[in-house]
Amino acid sequence: MIPKRIEHIGIAVANLDEAINYWENVMGLKCYNIEEVVDQKVKTAFFKVGEVKIELLEPTSPESTIATFLEKKGPGVHHIAFAVDNTDEALADVENLGVKLIDKKARQGAEGLKIGFLHPKSTMGILTELCSE
Ligand code: ZN
Repeated sequence: MIPKRIEHIGIAVANLDEAINYWENVMGLKCYNIEEVVDQKVKTAFFKVGEVKIELLEPTSPESTIATFLEKKGPGVHHIAFAVDNTDEALADVENLGVKLIDKKARQGAEGLKIGFLHPKSTMGILTELCSE
């Protein structure tokens, strides 16, 4: 598995509108997409910085993993997503190298991407997402 680039940086926020306001008015970026991912119980907002995206994540339910993250750590950087050619193959590759996975198989993420997460226990604390078109 060789990542092609950083696809996006996922940031947990308690209030999406407030966060969008910051990224638009302070950072000067335009939110180009707001999308609810029902499966992950989150509402997302996207910005582009060059070819890297910023993905804001607001929980839509107390059972969302983002709600748990906010409770434990507060708002901030949640994960880094790397673009790969094929998420399923990349997940299998890293599993063969002994990496613990959160997702054994790719699932549907925001923006139509096939996504899968590696367990932070195997990545020195960095929640790592792999994604492909
Ligand atoms: Zn993500």
